[in-house]
Amino acid sequence: AHLDRIAAVDGDVHAFLVVDAEGALSQAAAADARRATGQAQSPLDGVPIAVKDVMATKGLPTTCGSRILEGWVPPYDATVVARLRAAGLPILGKTNMDEFAMGSSTEHSAYGPTRNPWDLSRIPGGSGGGSAAALAAYEAPLAIGTDTGGSIRQPGAVTGTVGVKPTYGGVSRYGLVSLANSLDQAGPVTRTVLDAALLHTVIGGHDPKDSTSIDAPLPDLVGAARRGAEGDLSGVRVGVVKELGGEGYQDGVLTRFQESVDLMVAAGAEVVEVSCPNFVHALATYYLILPAEASSNLARFDAMRYGLRVTPDGDPSAEDVMRATREAGFGDEVKRRIILGTYALSSGYYDAYYGQAQKVRTLITRDFEQAFQHADVLVSPTAPTTAFKLGEKVDDPLAMYLNDLATIPANLSGVPGISVPSGLADEDGLPAGVQILAPATADDRVYRVGAALE
Ligand code: GLN
Repeated sequence: AHLDRIAAVDGDVHAFLVVDAEGALSQAAAADARRATGQAQSPLDGVPIAVKDVMATKGLPTTCGSRILEGWVPPYDATVVARLRAAGLPILGKTNMDEFAMGSSTEHSAYGPTRNPWDLSRIPGGSGGGSAAALAAYEAPLAIGTDTGGSIRQPGAVTGTVGVKPTYGGVSRYGLVSLANSLDQAGPVTRTVLDAALLHTVIGGHDPKDSTSIDAPLPDLVGAARRGAEGDLSGVRVGVVKELGGEGYQDGVLTRFQESVDLMVAAGAEVVEVSCPNFVHALATYYLILPAEASSNLARFDAMRYGLRVTPDGDPSAEDVMRATREAGFGDEVKRRIILGTYALSSGYYDAYYGQAQKVRTLITRDFEQAFQHADVLVSPTAPTTAFKLGEKVDDPLAMYLNDLATIPANLSGVPGISVPSGLADEDGLPAGVQILAPATADDRVYRVGAALE
């Protein structure tokens, strides 16, 4: 049924870069056989899933939305993918994304944009717009995303779906093509909070292949979601972050956010206002740390190891081949960030930019620690606006970066966050989202509060 739906609508939506119909059908047949004999490997055995094209998938192309990886077929599975297979989830295909996960609209994909199923003239968010659009268009019941600065949560908000960024280290990064190692985190993209808890339980937990993976059991996420769904939040202290709202946020988004807060109060939560004064520096901090890490990571695309190789005429040196390949293979946004990152890391500027950003990052973490003394969870709108029109911000990097105002602090500090639909904005009838953040390793709290809002 999902393959039929993809065939019917993906020509318009373009959520997928690759559809593996044959593989998905044979995995589904194997799942049916297991179910028939009572041997299901997990509660999600047989439930199809779409995977963001940033995850290495054995035997299936993995491009990261970039020309430079065109034609690359990984010889191994990312841990997340291996766990999906072990739990019996048929993989429908790979979803579109901004090139190397840089962007908030999926317009930076080298393979053309994804469109928002709510309104095809609008963006589905990014960088994981393909995964979110696949869910919103009913092309897949579950998907995998990655969130370095908001790429799971912001697409969730603008497509009316659920997205979770787990605690940093809660889901293995092995086989995930790195954008910024200290910020990247894979997580569930779903239509309900309970689905996300089930999927998180399949993909999460310690992995010896990732040295930053947390060596502790996951909290009971499914239990927390079920408990939240009963609608009782008594005893939960909810902190509304003063700095994440107001100026720069669309009225309709703020109205729906206030209603979500009212719902939490009606469910018995105690609501307090908290201040995180350093959050106003989060965007600037992120756009130094991320390009620095990304410029270093992208050095591996040297024309020798993976994908594309452009050989200039004559008798080119290795350096000539590298230059021609990177010139042809990387898009403008990727080049912009390589230049920014290389500059921020260069001798003489390192202390002023990268070093300074790391200090502010610590201040942001202290703001979280302070706030979590007064509140069990923090809440804000997920994204400042609903989905904007394709082309509206693509030539204005700063306007594009501003989409991540509310999501970035969680990545800088490693804390978990969920985006849950908060309703449709009055001005345009498009979906908005509410974000719930919890202290590191307390992912169960975001599921409990999130499920209470559904
Ligand atoms: N939009 C942000 C960026 O461009 C977030 C990206 C992400 O989370 N992968 O960096």
